[in-house]
Amino acid sequence: MNTQPIASHFINGAYIEDIQGQPIDVIYPATGDVIARVYSATPDIIQRAIESAIQAQIAWSSMSGTERGRILLRAASIIRQRNDELSVLETYDTGKPLSETLYADATSAADCLEYFGGLAGTITGEHIPLADGNWAYTRREPLGLCVGIGAWNYPTQISCWKAAPALACGNAMIFKPSETTPLCALKIAEIFIEAGLPAGLYNVVQGLGDVGAALVNDPRVNKVSLTGSVPTGRKVYAAAASQMKQVTMELGGKSPLIIFDDANLENAVSGAILANFYSTGQICSNGTRVFVQQGILKAFLARLVDRLDQAIVGDPQNLKTTFGPMVSKRQLDIVLNYIEKGKAEGARLVTGGKAISGPGYYLQPTIFCDVTDEMTIAKEEVFGPLMSVLTFDNETEVITRANATEFGLAAGVFTADISRAHRMVNAIKAGTCFINSYNDAPVEAPFGGFNMSGVGRENSKAAVAHYTQIKSVFVRMGDVDAPF
Ligand code: NAD
Repeated sequence: MNTQPIASHFINGAYIEDIQGQPIDVIYPATGDVIARVYSATPDIIQRAIESAIQAQIAWSSMSGTERGRILLRAASIIRQRNDELSVLETYDTGKPLSETLYADATSAADCLEYFGGLAGTITGEHIPLADGNWAYTRREPLGLCVGIGAWNYPTQISCWKAAPALACGNAMIFKPSETTPLCALKIAEIFIEAGLPAGLYNVVQGLGDVGAALVNDPRVNKVSLTGSVPTGRKVYAAAASQMKQVTMELGGKSPLIIFDDANLENAVSGAILANFYSTGQICSNGTRVFVQQGILKAFLARLVDRLDQAIVGDPQNLKTTFGPMVSKRQLDIVLNYIEKGKAEGARLVTGGKAISGPGYYLQPTIFCDVTDEMTIAKEEVFGPLMSVLTFDNETEVITRANATEFGLAAGVFTADISRAHRMVNAIKAGTCFINSYNDAPVEAPFGGFNMSGVGRENSKAAVAHYTQIKSVFVRMGDVDAPF
Protein backbone atom coordinates (compact mmCIF):
# COMPACT_ATOMS: atom_id res chain seq x y z
CA MET A 1 0.00 0.00 0.00
CA ASN A 2 1.22 3.51 -0.79
CA THR A 3 1.02 5.21 2.59
CA GLN A 4 2.31 8.61 1.50
CA PRO A 5 -0.70 10.95 1.25
CA ILE A 6 -1.09 13.24 -1.76
CA ALA A 7 -0.42 16.17 0.56
CA SER A 8 -0.41 16.89 4.29
CA HIS A 9 -3.68 18.78 4.69
CA PHE A 10 -7.18 18.54 3.27
CA ILE A 11 -8.90 21.91 3.04
CA ASN A 12 -11.94 23.11 1.16
CA GLY A 13 -12.42 19.79 -0.61
CA ALA A 14 -8.84 19.24 -1.79
CA TYR A 15 -5.38 18.21 -0.67
CA ILE A 16 -3.04 21.08 -0.02
CA GLU A 17 0.66 21.24 0.84
CA ASP A 18 2.92 23.80 2.42
CA ILE A 19 6.43 22.48 2.95
CA GLN A 20 7.32 25.56 5.00
CA GLY A 21 5.79 23.67 7.94
CA GLN A 22 7.86 21.47 10.24
CA PRO A 23 8.29 18.00 8.70
CA ILE A 24 6.67 15.11 10.58
CA ASP A 25 7.84 11.60 9.73
CA VAL A 26 5.21 8.89 9.96
CA ILE A 27 6.73 5.72 11.38
CA TYR A 28 5.32 2.22 11.03
CA PRO A 29 5.44 0.88 14.59
CA ALA A 30 5.98 -2.72 13.49
CA THR A 31 9.28 -1.97 11.74
CA GLY A 32 10.39 1.52 12.73
CA ASP A 33 10.45 2.45 9.01
CA VAL A 34 9.41 5.91 7.84
CA ILE A 35 6.33 5.27 5.69
CA ALA A 36 5.26 8.84 4.95
CA ARG A 37 6.09 12.44 5.66
CA VAL A 38 3.68 15.28 6.33
CA TYR A 39 4.29 18.91 7.21
CA SER A 40 2.90 20.76 10.18
CA ALA A 41 0.32 23.42 9.29
CA THR A 42 1.69 26.91 8.80
CA PRO A 43 -0.34 29.98 9.83
CA ASP A 44 -1.41 30.27 6.17
CA ILE A 45 -2.78 26.71 6.16
CA ILE A 46 -4.63 27.29 9.43
CA GLN A 47 -6.10 30.51 8.04
CA ARG A 48 -7.35 28.72 4.91
CA ALA A 49 -8.86 25.92 6.95
CA ILE A 50 -10.73 28.34 9.19
CA GLU A 51 -11.96 30.60 6.39
CA SER A 52 -13.27 27.77 4.22
CA ALA A 53 -14.96 26.07 7.16
CA ILE A 54 -16.74 29.25 8.24
CA GLN A 55 -17.91 29.89 4.69
CA ALA A 56 -19.15 26.33 4.15
CA GLN A 57 -21.00 26.17 7.47
CA ILE A 58 -23.45 28.93 6.48
CA ALA A 59 -25.17 26.93 3.75
CA TRP A 60 -24.78 23.63 5.62
CA SER A 61 -26.67 24.91 8.65
CA SER A 62 -29.58 26.01 6.49
CA MET A 63 -30.08 22.53 5.03
CA SER A 64 -32.58 20.22 6.66
CA GLY A 65 -31.26 17.67 9.12
CA THR A 66 -32.46 14.87 6.87
CA GLU A 67 -30.46 16.24 3.94
CA ARG A 68 -27.35 16.52 6.09
CA GLY A 69 -27.94 13.05 7.48
CA ARG A 70 -28.23 11.55 4.00
CA ILE A 71 -24.65 12.65 3.24
CA LEU A 72 -23.35 11.16 6.48
CA LEU A 73 -25.10 7.88 5.66
CA ARG A 74 -23.48 7.86 2.23
CA ALA A 75 -20.07 8.42 3.83
CA ALA A 76 -20.75 5.50 6.19
CA SER A 77 -21.59 3.26 3.28
CA ILE A 78 -18.36 4.16 1.42
CA ILE A 79 -16.37 3.51 4.62
CA ARG A 80 -17.96 0.06 4.91
CA GLN A 81 -17.18 -0.73 1.25
CA ARG A 82 -13.55 0.29 1.82
CA ASN A 83 -13.17 -1.29 5.23
CA ASP A 84 -10.29 -3.53 4.13
CA GLU A 85 -8.21 -0.70 2.70
CA LEU A 86 -8.98 1.66 5.61
CA SER A 87 -8.12 -1.04 8.13
CA VAL A 88 -4.75 -1.69 6.50
CA LEU A 89 -4.01 2.04 6.66
CA GLU A 90 -5.10 2.18 10.31
CA THR A 91 -2.67 -0.67 10.98
CA TYR A 92 0.17 1.24 9.28
CA ASP A 93 -0.71 4.40 11.20
CA THR A 94 -0.99 2.79 14.66
CA GLY A 95 0.59 -0.68 14.51
CA LYS A 96 -2.64 -2.24 15.83
CA PRO A 97 -3.15 -5.70 14.32
CA LEU A 98 -5.38 -6.06 11.30
CA SER A 99 -7.33 -8.68 13.26
CA GLU A 100 -8.52 -5.70 15.36
CA THR A 101 -8.66 -2.85 12.88
CA LEU A 102 -10.92 -4.77 10.49
CA TYR A 103 -13.57 -4.83 13.23
CA ALA A 104 -13.00 -1.86 15.53
CA ASP A 105 -11.94 1.22 13.59
CA ALA A 106 -13.47 2.08 10.21
CA THR A 107 -16.51 0.06 11.25
CA SER A 108 -16.88 2.13 14.42
CA ALA A 109 -16.55 5.29 12.32
CA ALA A 110 -19.31 4.01 10.03
CA ASP A 111 -21.53 3.12 13.00
CA CYS A 112 -21.16 6.66 14.28
CA LEU A 113 -21.96 8.25 10.90
CA GLU A 114 -25.01 6.00 10.55
CA TYR A 115 -26.23 6.84 14.04
CA PHE A 116 -25.85 10.61 13.70
CA GLY A 117 -26.94 10.52 10.05
CA GLY A 118 -30.21 8.98 11.23
CA LEU A 119 -30.50 11.36 14.15
CA ALA A 120 -29.83 14.56 12.18
CA GLY A 121 -33.46 15.03 11.17
CA THR A 122 -34.68 14.64 14.73
CA ILE A 123 -32.66 17.49 16.24
CA THR A 124 -35.38 19.91 17.22
CA GLY A 125 -36.39 22.35 19.91
CA GLU A 126 -39.55 22.33 21.99
CA HIS A 127 -42.80 24.21 22.27
CA ILE A 128 -43.43 25.83 25.68
CA PRO A 129 -47.04 26.98 26.34
CA LEU A 130 -47.32 30.07 28.59
CA ALA A 131 -50.10 32.12 30.20
CA ASP A 132 -52.60 34.22 28.17
CA GLY A 133 -52.00 32.28 24.98
CA ASN A 134 -48.40 33.38 24.82
CA TRP A 135 -45.78 30.80 24.12
CA ALA A 136 -42.11 30.21 23.65
CA TYR A 137 -40.19 27.83 21.51
CA THR A 138 -36.60 26.71 21.50
CA ARG A 139 -34.28 26.17 18.59
CA ARG A 140 -31.28 23.87 18.77
CA GLU A 141 -28.77 25.79 16.71
CA PRO A 142 -25.29 24.72 15.62
CA LEU A 143 -22.29 26.21 17.41
CA GLY A 144 -20.54 27.10 14.15
CA LEU A 145 -16.92 26.07 13.73
CA CYS A 146 -15.81 23.12 15.84
CA VAL A 147 -12.24 21.92 16.21
CA GLY A 148 -11.47 18.26 16.87
CA ILE A 149 -8.06 17.26 18.21
CA GLY A 150 -7.20 13.58 18.23
CA ALA A 151 -5.06 11.10 20.17
CA TRP A 152 -3.04 8.46 18.30
CA ASN A 153 -4.69 5.24 19.43
CA TYR A 154 -7.88 5.32 17.31
CA PRO A 155 -7.30 7.87 14.52
CA THR A 156 -10.19 6.84 12.25
CA GLN A 157 -12.67 6.32 15.04
CA ILE A 158 -11.81 9.53 16.87
CA SER A 159 -12.10 11.64 13.71
CA CYS A 160 -15.63 10.33 13.07
CA TRP A 161 -16.77 10.32 16.71
CA LYS A 162 -16.18 14.07 16.52
CA ALA A 163 -17.12 14.84 12.93
CA ALA A 164 -20.39 12.88 12.80
CA PRO A 165 -22.25 14.68 15.62
CA ALA A 166 -20.68 18.03 14.69
CA LEU A 167 -21.82 17.77 11.07
CA ALA A 168 -25.21 16.26 11.91
CA CYS A 169 -25.92 19.30 14.10
CA GLY A 170 -25.02 21.73 11.29
CA ASN A 171 -21.46 22.66 12.27
CA ALA A 172 -18.21 22.63 10.31
CA MET A 173 -15.20 20.77 11.69
CA ILE A 174 -11.47 21.21 11.45
CA PHE A 175 -9.76 18.06 12.66
CA LYS A 176 -6.15 17.92 13.79
CA PRO A 177 -5.01 14.33 14.09
CA SER A 178 -2.25 13.33 16.47
CA GLU A 179 1.17 13.99 14.95
CA THR A 180 1.93 10.29 15.59
CA THR A 181 -0.93 9.04 13.36
CA PRO A 182 -1.72 11.66 10.70
CA LEU A 183 -2.84 9.39 7.84
CA CYS A 184 -6.33 8.03 8.52
CA ALA A 185 -8.24 11.31 8.94
CA LEU A 186 -7.17 12.37 5.43
CA LYS A 187 -8.93 9.31 3.98
CA ILE A 188 -12.07 10.23 5.91
CA ALA A 189 -11.89 13.73 4.40
CA GLU A 190 -11.65 12.22 0.89
CA ILE A 191 -14.62 9.97 1.58
CA PHE A 192 -16.75 12.84 2.87
CA ILE A 193 -16.23 14.70 -0.41
CA GLU A 194 -17.07 11.58 -2.40
CA ALA A 195 -20.24 11.22 -0.34
CA GLY A 196 -21.30 14.74 -1.31
CA LEU A 197 -20.29 16.74 1.74
CA PRO A 198 -19.80 20.33 0.59
CA ALA A 199 -16.15 21.41 0.52
CA GLY A 200 -14.80 23.07 3.66
CA LEU A 201 -17.05 21.33 6.16
CA TYR A 202 -14.47 18.78 7.22
CA ASN A 203 -10.93 20.06 6.94
CA VAL A 204 -7.87 18.18 8.19
CA VAL A 205 -4.73 20.01 9.27
CA GLN A 206 -1.58 18.35 10.55
CA GLY A 207 0.70 19.44 13.32
CA LEU A 208 1.91 19.11 16.87
CA GLY A 209 0.46 20.74 19.96
CA ASP A 210 1.22 24.25 18.70
CA VAL A 211 -1.14 23.79 15.75
CA GLY A 212 -3.82 22.47 18.10
CA ALA A 213 -3.25 25.46 20.38
CA ALA A 214 -3.44 27.93 17.46
CA LEU A 215 -6.84 26.49 16.52
CA VAL A 216 -8.11 26.50 20.11
CA ASN A 217 -7.01 30.12 20.58
CA ASP A 218 -8.55 31.44 17.37
CA PRO A 219 -11.60 33.52 18.29
CA ARG A 220 -13.47 32.27 15.19
CA VAL A 221 -13.51 28.74 16.61
CA ASN A 222 -16.63 28.08 18.69
CA LYS A 223 -15.99 24.68 20.19
CA VAL A 224 -13.13 22.29 20.88
CA SER A 225 -13.37 18.55 21.31
CA LEU A 226 -10.12 16.98 22.50
CA THR A 227 -9.20 13.34 22.92
CA GLY A 228 -5.90 13.22 24.74
CA SER A 229 -4.12 13.16 28.06
CA VAL A 230 -5.08 15.03 31.22
CA PRO A 231 -2.11 17.46 31.02
CA THR A 232 -3.11 18.45 27.47
CA GLY A 233 -6.75 18.61 28.52
CA ARG A 234 -5.90 21.09 31.26
CA LYS A 235 -4.16 23.39 28.76
CA VAL A 236 -6.85 23.14 26.10
CA TYR A 237 -9.70 23.59 28.58
CA ALA A 238 -8.00 26.68 30.09
CA ALA A 239 -7.40 28.21 26.65
CA ALA A 240 -10.99 27.54 25.60
CA ALA A 241 -12.32 28.94 28.88
CA SER A 242 -10.58 32.26 28.34
CA GLN A 243 -12.87 32.76 25.33
CA MET A 244 -15.87 31.00 26.89
CA LYS A 245 -15.79 28.25 24.27
CA GLN A 246 -17.66 25.01 24.66
CA VAL A 247 -15.52 21.91 25.14
CA THR A 248 -15.69 18.17 25.10
CA MET A 249 -12.74 16.57 26.87
CA GLU A 250 -12.09 12.84 26.44
CA LEU A 251 -9.06 12.29 28.63
CA GLY A 252 -7.15 9.58 30.41
CA GLY A 253 -8.05 7.05 33.04
CA LYS A 254 -6.86 4.52 35.61
CA SER A 255 -10.00 2.47 35.72
CA PRO A 256 -10.80 -0.32 38.18
CA LEU A 257 -11.86 -3.79 37.08
CA ILE A 258 -13.32 -5.67 40.04
CA ILE A 259 -13.56 -9.44 40.02
CA PHE A 260 -15.52 -11.17 42.78
CA ASP A 261 -15.05 -14.76 43.91
CA ASP A 262 -18.38 -15.78 42.35
CA ALA A 263 -17.49 -14.48 38.87
CA ASN A 264 -17.42 -16.80 35.90
CA LEU A 265 -13.67 -17.36 35.73
CA GLU A 266 -13.33 -17.66 31.97
CA ASN A 267 -15.38 -14.50 31.35
CA ALA A 268 -13.49 -12.57 34.02
CA VAL A 269 -10.18 -13.53 32.42
CA SER A 270 -11.51 -12.54 28.97
CA GLY A 271 -12.68 -9.22 30.43
CA ALA A 272 -9.28 -8.60 32.00
CA ILE A 273 -7.55 -9.35 28.68
CA LEU A 274 -9.85 -6.97 26.79
CA ALA A 275 -9.34 -4.38 29.52
CA ASN A 276 -5.54 -4.49 29.37
CA PHE A 277 -4.16 -5.98 26.19
CA TYR A 278 -6.49 -5.11 23.30
CA SER A 279 -4.76 -2.50 21.10
CA THR A 280 -1.60 -3.40 23.03
CA GLY A 281 -3.13 -1.78 26.09
CA GLN A 282 -3.37 1.64 24.47
CA ILE A 283 -7.00 2.39 25.32
CA CYS A 284 -8.14 5.22 27.57
CA SER A 285 -10.93 3.27 29.27
CA ASN A 286 -8.76 0.26 30.12
CA GLY A 287 -9.34 -1.41 33.47
CA THR A 288 -5.71 -1.42 34.53
CA ARG A 289 -6.28 -1.74 38.27
CA VAL A 290 -7.59 -5.28 38.43
CA PHE A 291 -8.99 -5.89 41.93
CA VAL A 292 -9.38 -9.64 42.46
CA GLN A 293 -11.13 -11.05 45.52
CA GLN A 294 -8.85 -13.33 47.55
CA GLY A 295 -10.84 -16.52 46.93
CA ILE A 296 -10.47 -16.48 43.15
CA LEU A 297 -6.98 -14.97 42.91
CA LYS A 298 -4.96 -18.15 42.39
CA ALA A 299 -7.27 -19.57 39.72
CA PHE A 300 -7.58 -16.18 38.03
CA LEU A 301 -3.83 -15.65 37.73
CA ALA A 302 -3.18 -19.19 36.53
CA ARG A 303 -5.82 -18.97 33.81
CA LEU A 304 -4.75 -15.46 32.82
CA VAL A 305 -1.15 -16.55 32.27
CA ASP A 306 -2.38 -19.56 30.24
CA ARG A 307 -4.50 -17.34 28.06
CA LEU A 308 -1.72 -14.76 27.60
CA ASP A 309 0.54 -17.53 26.31
CA GLN A 310 -1.94 -17.88 23.46
CA ALA A 311 -1.40 -14.28 22.29
CA ILE A 312 0.15 -14.20 18.82
CA VAL A 313 2.70 -11.41 18.79
CA GLY A 314 3.98 -10.46 15.38
CA ASP A 315 3.43 -8.71 12.08
CA PRO A 316 0.21 -6.70 12.56
CA GLN A 317 -0.67 -7.08 8.87
CA ASN A 318 -0.85 -10.86 9.35
CA LEU A 319 -4.44 -11.75 10.18
CA LYS A 320 -3.33 -14.34 12.73
CA THR A 321 -1.53 -11.73 14.86
CA THR A 322 -3.47 -10.75 17.97
CA PHE A 323 -0.94 -8.53 19.73
CA GLY A 324 0.96 -5.79 17.91
CA PRO A 325 3.67 -3.26 18.74
CA MET A 326 3.37 -0.11 20.81
CA VAL A 327 2.62 2.95 18.71
CA SER A 328 6.07 4.53 19.06
CA LYS A 329 9.50 4.23 20.60
CA ARG A 330 8.48 7.02 22.98
CA GLN A 331 5.43 5.12 24.23
CA LEU A 332 7.47 1.91 24.54
CA ASP A 333 10.03 3.74 26.70
CA ILE A 334 7.27 5.25 28.88
CA VAL A 335 5.86 1.79 29.59
CA LEU A 336 9.30 0.22 30.18
CA ASN A 337 9.93 2.96 32.72
CA TYR A 338 6.69 2.08 34.53
CA ILE A 339 7.72 -1.58 34.53
CA GLU A 340 10.98 -0.65 36.25
CA LYS A 341 9.04 1.44 38.80
CA GLY A 342 6.70 -1.50 39.44
CA LYS A 343 9.66 -3.77 40.21
CA ALA A 344 11.46 -1.15 42.30
CA GLU A 345 8.37 -0.46 44.40
CA GLY A 346 7.90 -4.15 45.21
CA ALA A 347 5.25 -5.43 42.81
CA ARG A 348 5.77 -9.04 41.67
CA LEU A 349 6.22 -9.58 37.95
CA VAL A 350 4.03 -12.50 36.94
CA THR A 351 4.81 -12.47 33.24
CA GLY A 352 6.31 -10.25 30.53
CA GLY A 353 8.16 -7.07 31.43
CA LYS A 354 10.58 -6.87 28.53
CA ALA A 355 10.80 -5.24 25.15
CA ILE A 356 10.98 -7.82 22.36
CA SER A 357 14.21 -7.53 20.40
CA GLY A 358 14.12 -6.97 16.67
CA PRO A 359 12.64 -4.19 14.59
CA GLY A 360 9.55 -2.35 15.78
CA TYR A 361 8.34 -1.28 19.21
CA TYR A 362 7.17 -4.59 20.65
CA LEU A 363 6.69 -5.18 24.35
CA GLN A 364 5.65 -8.39 26.09
CA PRO A 365 2.19 -8.33 27.62
CA THR A 366 2.98 -7.69 31.26
CA ILE A 367 1.26 -8.59 34.51
CA PHE A 368 2.22 -7.48 38.00
CA CYS A 369 0.58 -8.88 41.12
CA ASP A 370 0.94 -7.96 44.81
CA VAL A 371 0.33 -4.41 43.65
CA THR A 372 -0.73 -1.97 46.38
CA ASP A 373 -2.77 1.22 46.02
CA GLU A 374 0.23 3.48 46.68
CA MET A 375 2.46 2.10 43.91
CA THR A 376 3.05 4.30 40.89
CA ILE A 377 1.72 1.63 38.51
CA ALA A 378 -1.56 1.60 40.47
CA LYS A 379 -1.94 5.37 40.41
CA GLU A 380 -0.75 6.71 37.07
CA GLU A 381 -2.09 6.05 33.60
CA VAL A 382 0.48 3.82 31.85
CA PHE A 383 -1.17 3.50 28.42
CA GLY A 384 0.40 0.21 27.47
CA PRO A 385 0.07 -3.55 28.04
CA LEU A 386 0.70 -3.47 31.79
CA MET A 387 -1.87 -5.02 34.11
CA SER A 388 -1.72 -4.42 37.85
CA VAL A 389 -3.43 -7.08 39.97
CA LEU A 390 -4.51 -6.01 43.47
CA THR A 391 -6.44 -8.12 45.95
CA PHE A 392 -9.41 -7.31 48.17
CA ASP A 393 -11.62 -8.91 50.81
CA ASN A 394 -15.01 -7.24 50.66
CA GLU A 395 -17.33 -4.96 48.75
CA THR A 396 -17.07 -1.87 50.98
CA GLU A 397 -13.30 -1.97 50.93
CA VAL A 398 -13.01 -2.38 47.17
CA ILE A 399 -15.45 0.45 46.41
CA THR A 400 -13.41 2.87 48.53
CA ARG A 401 -10.18 1.77 46.88
CA ALA A 402 -11.62 1.78 43.36
CA ASN A 403 -12.81 5.36 43.82
CA ALA A 404 -9.52 6.58 45.29
CA THR A 405 -8.31 8.09 42.02
CA GLU A 406 -8.36 11.47 40.35
CA PHE A 407 -9.70 9.82 37.18
CA GLY A 408 -13.19 8.46 36.53
CA LEU A 409 -13.42 7.24 32.97
CA ALA A 410 -14.61 3.64 33.32
CA ALA A 411 -15.02 0.68 35.65
CA GLY A 412 -15.95 -2.98 35.39
CA VAL A 413 -17.48 -5.55 37.75
CA PHE A 414 -17.52 -9.31 37.27
CA THR A 415 -19.90 -11.14 39.60
CA ALA A 416 -22.74 -13.64 39.41
CA ASP A 417 -24.73 -11.62 41.96
CA ILE A 418 -26.88 -9.23 39.98
CA SER A 419 -27.83 -7.10 43.00
CA ARG A 420 -24.20 -6.68 43.97
CA ALA A 421 -23.30 -5.72 40.39
CA HIS A 422 -25.79 -2.84 40.43
CA ARG A 423 -24.84 -1.84 43.98
CA MET A 424 -21.24 -1.56 42.85
CA VAL A 425 -22.05 0.41 39.73
CA ASN A 426 -24.16 2.77 41.83
CA ALA A 427 -21.21 3.43 44.14
CA ILE A 428 -18.47 3.71 41.54
CA LYS A 429 -17.54 7.15 40.31
CA ALA A 430 -16.94 6.66 36.59
CA GLY A 431 -18.62 7.72 33.35
CA THR A 432 -18.86 4.27 31.78
CA CYS A 433 -19.38 1.05 33.73
CA PHE A 434 -19.39 -2.54 32.52
CA ILE A 435 -21.15 -5.45 34.20
CA ASN A 436 -19.64 -8.83 33.28
CA SER A 437 -18.01 -7.21 30.25
CA TYR A 438 -15.31 -4.69 29.40
CA ASN A 439 -14.58 -1.97 26.85
CA ASP A 440 -17.78 -2.13 24.81
CA ALA A 441 -18.35 1.26 23.18
CA PRO A 442 -21.61 1.16 21.21
CA VAL A 443 -22.43 4.47 19.53
CA GLU A 444 -25.93 4.34 21.07
CA ALA A 445 -24.55 4.83 24.60
CA PRO A 446 -22.84 7.98 25.93
CA PHE A 447 -19.08 7.79 26.41
CA GLY A 448 -17.03 10.08 28.66
CA GLY A 449 -15.51 10.56 32.06
CA PHE A 450 -16.09 11.83 35.58
CA ASN A 451 -13.53 13.98 37.42
CA MET A 452 -10.19 14.45 35.64
CA SER A 453 -11.17 12.01 32.89
CA GLY A 454 -13.25 14.52 31.04
CA VAL A 455 -16.04 16.92 30.36
CA GLY A 456 -19.06 16.23 28.17
CA ARG A 457 -20.00 13.03 26.38
CA GLU A 458 -19.38 11.57 22.94
CA ASN A 459 -21.77 9.30 21.05
CA SER A 460 -25.50 8.81 21.70
CA LYS A 461 -28.16 11.52 21.87
CA ALA A 462 -26.10 13.12 24.66
CA ALA A 463 -23.56 14.35 22.08
CA VAL A 464 -26.18 16.56 20.43
CA ALA A 465 -26.20 18.83 23.48
CA HIS A 466 -22.45 19.29 23.08
CA TYR A 467 -22.62 20.36 19.43
CA THR A 468 -25.61 22.71 19.63
CA GLN A 469 -26.77 25.69 21.62
CA ILE A 470 -30.32 26.52 22.60
CA LYS A 471 -32.07 29.69 21.54
CA SER A 472 -35.32 30.54 23.35
CA VAL A 473 -37.88 32.54 21.42
CA PHE A 474 -40.73 34.25 23.30
CA VAL A 475 -43.88 34.91 21.27
CA ARG A 476 -46.55 37.33 22.54
CA MET A 477 -50.00 36.80 21.05
CA GLY A 478 -51.73 39.90 22.50
CA ASP A 479 -50.93 43.54 23.11
CA VAL A 480 -47.79 44.65 24.89
CA ASP A 481 -48.48 46.06 28.36
CA ALA A 482 -45.83 48.70 29.19
CA PRO A 483 -45.75 50.85 32.42
CA PHE A 484 -45.76 54.16 30.57
P1 NAD B 1 -1.73 14.01 24.07
O1 NAD B 1 -2.46 14.70 25.14
O2 NAD B 1 -0.25 14.00 24.09
O3 NAD B 1 -2.14 14.61 22.65
C1 NAD B 1 -3.48 14.63 22.21
C2 NAD B 1 -3.62 15.64 21.08
O4 NAD B 1 -3.51 16.95 21.62
C3 NAD B 1 -2.56 15.53 19.99
O5 NAD B 1 -3.18 15.72 18.74
C4 NAD B 1 -1.62 16.68 20.31
O6 NAD B 1 -0.94 17.18 19.17
C5 NAD B 1 -2.59 17.72 20.83
N1 NAD B 1 -2.02 18.74 21.70
C6 NAD B 1 -0.94 18.66 22.51
N2 NAD B 1 -0.76 19.82 23.16
C7 NAD B 1 -1.74 20.66 22.77
C8 NAD B 1 -2.10 22.00 23.11
N3 NAD B 1 -1.39 22.71 24.00
N4 NAD B 1 -3.17 22.55 22.53
C9 NAD B 1 -3.91 21.84 21.65
N5 NAD B 1 -3.62 20.57 21.28
C10 NAD B 1 -2.56 19.98 21.84
O7 NAD B 1 -2.31 12.52 24.06
P2 NAD B 1 -1.81 11.27 23.20
O8 NAD B 1 -0.50 10.81 23.77
O9 NAD B 1 -1.93 11.56 21.76
O10 NAD B 1 -2.94 10.18 23.55
C11 NAD B 1 -2.93 9.41 24.70
C12 NAD B 1 -3.84 10.01 25.75
O11 NAD B 1 -5.15 10.18 25.20
C13 NAD B 1 -4.02 9.12 26.95
O12 NAD B 1 -3.99 9.89 28.12
C14 NAD B 1 -5.39 8.52 26.75
O13 NAD B 1 -6.04 8.13 27.93
C15 NAD B 1 -6.11 9.64 26.08
N6 NAD B 1 -7.27 9.12 25.32
C16 NAD B 1 -8.52 9.38 25.79
C17 NAD B 1 -9.63 8.88 25.12
C18 NAD B 1 -11.03 9.14 25.62
O14 NAD B 1 -11.96 9.02 24.83
N7 NAD B 1 -11.24 9.48 26.88
C19 NAD B 1 -9.45 8.11 23.96
C20 NAD B 1 -8.17 7.89 23.51
C21 NAD B 1 -7.07 8.39 24.20
